[in-house]
Amino acid sequence: MRRKAATVKDMEPNSADRYSRQIRFAGIGEAGQAKLAGAHVAVVGCGALGSFQAEALARAGVGRLRILDRDYVELSNLQRQWLFDESDAEQALPKAVAAARRLARVNSTIAVEPVVADLTAANIDDLLEGVELILDATDNFETRYLINDYAVRGGVPWVYGAAVGSYGLELAILSGKTACLKCVYPTPPSGPQPTCETAGVLGSATSIIAALQVADALKILTGAPVQARLTTIDVWTSQMRQIAAPARDPDCACCARHDFVHLDGSDRTPISLCGRNAVQIHERRRPVDLVELGRRLQPLGETRINEFAMRAQLPPYELTVFADGRAIIKGTTDIGVARSVYARYVG
Ligand SMILES: [Zn+2]
Repeated sequence: MRRKAATVKDMEPNSADRYSRQIRFAGIGEAGQAKLAGAHVAVVGCGALGSFQAEALARAGVGRLRILDRDYVELSNLQRQWLFDESDAEQALPKAVAAARRLARVNSTIAVEPVVADLTAANIDDLLEGVELILDATDNFETRYLINDYAVRGGVPWVYGAAVGSYGLELAILSGKTACLKCVYPTPPSGPQPTCETAGVLGSATSIIAALQVADALKILTGAPVQARLTTIDVWTSQMRQIAAPARDPDCACCARHDFVHLDGSDRTPISLCGRNAVQIHERRRPVDLVELGRRLQPLGETRINEFAMRAQLPPYELTVFADGRAIIKGTTDIGVARSVYARYVG
């Protein structure tokens, strides 16, 4: 064999053929492909965004993929979560595990690390250790702020993405160089937010956002220039917008003052067990329009409202939300499940 500098061809038998179309693309080339092979990326959340991202990155040849998710595959996921099939839903497999099994068949030459866990301030250092890029596929601002704190503190790039209904948005964050999530959104949105449970979601919306995130991920990993623009897309009205890279806030609590309140846990809403089979979320800074929330949840289960609280039957759970945002979730003693129910139905 002819001797030459180390290439993708030398690293893995057949990989020059497997990735030939990507290598032929001038923006990546052999050098870029070799960088992807050596990369270690985390996908946080493995729902619609995360399952698309994970499969796309696996096919692209990212060498190590860590997939974090705390949920189980359900039939209602299959409409938009590409990695999963009916047998995963029947077995109620953890999404991270189902994803890893599927990805092993998609690309057996990479390492996939499934993690069945809820990402929190207490475990983020362990769960994201060694990762050089984080893809956001979460469904709530609390976890995104946590990722933002972690990423800015460690100088780790991450790619924000969100979608609901027919609409989504995407922004690459080059920690320490471009605006962080707190520069763009200093405070989380208040009141109930549309969620995929209440407003529905189209697989085309989640896929296009995830595809933009993956494209930015490949640029970051291969060292190509990244335009940190905020992109918004509505696939139903066919409106697409790009806002020039948001400016960094010179007084940003996170990336300027390094006040990592989410990472030290001091900003986390306290949660406690309450009764034999219920969890209380002690949110008090999030005024909720109970009538509006009841209207959104009404198609999903029986709701009752009085001037103090809105109660919805969402089997196997019963969700009671008070006007200040506090909530009691009956039907679980698992704090992570309670957080997840709150994020799903209140936003
Ligand atoms: Zn910032």
